[in-house]
Amino acid sequence: MNLLALGVKEFGLELSPDKLQAFEIYYRELRRWNRRANLTALISPEEVQIKHFLDSLSIYELAEFREAISSGRELRIVDVGTGGGFPGVPIKIVNPQVSLTLVDSSRKKVQFLEHLIGALGLRGVEVIWGRAEEVARRGEHREQYDWVLARALAEFPVLAEYLIPFCRVGGYVVAYKGPKIFQELEISSEAISALGGKVLRLHQVQASALGGSRYLLLIAKESPTPPLYPRRPGIPAKRPLGLKKGKPPLHSPGSQ
Ligand code: SAH
Repeated sequence: MNLLALGVKEFGLELSPDKLQAFEIYYRELRRWNRRANLTALISPEEVQIKHFLDSLSIYELAEFREAISSGRELRIVDVGTGGGFPGVPIKIVNPQVSLTLVDSSRKKVQFLEHLIGALGLRGVEVIWGRAEEVARRGEHREQYDWVLARALAEFPVLAEYLIPFCRVGGYVVAYKGPKIFQELEISSEAISALGGKVLRLHQVQASALGGSRYLLLIAKESPTPPLYPRRPGIPAKRPLGLKKGKPPLHSPGSQ
């Protein structure tokens, strides 16, 4: 885990031998379960350390997140569409005091996650098998989280409808994104504000190992999400908020 140990220094983090050992175990289990649970296409030790572990930890570049972590308050974090545990599990390894909820609609991924949490001996992790649209409607999850995270789950504005309902007013939503976020944002402001969110900023990840192609979109939850949202499973993706029926979900530059 040398690449990871070196990479996190740019986030101002230092990983103890115990934590590096936990990432070794994580890597081993990811490899063992990969074929069965279809967890990731990136499986070399270098790829996993950089594109999964380090990328998940890039949230430590956000001052708001670092402040929340160091405040000593109990933080509730949910990672929606977590797959093999990204970005939630690496954050939990680094800061075991946070309370973490992992949501995924795939039964096999949930089985992997339950196994992984046991192998890592982590306490304070809840794994939920379900779709975001349905889980976010349950009282114990709706508007309950200080931080709502997702990577590679969906494009905006669909992603906004999946994530913003989980967030408490005063909390934050963070979407891990590539350069396509610029196009996505152009068509999402209406949806984000209809759900009670406000874009604070788009942060370009600085870590040199990630090569400048990664972004974190930081959204603040300003007002409660209307009870209508999220709509039934499948509807947010079928009829994205703020987009007119019949139009393609994204307009490429030059098309009208
Ligand atoms: N966040 C992980 C996995 C991304 S793949 C990573 O960055 O590596 C997307 C994951 O979201 C898959 O595991 C899929 O099972 C899950 N998923 C897709 N639609 C979902 C939904 N509506 N609710 C919950 N999980 C969903």
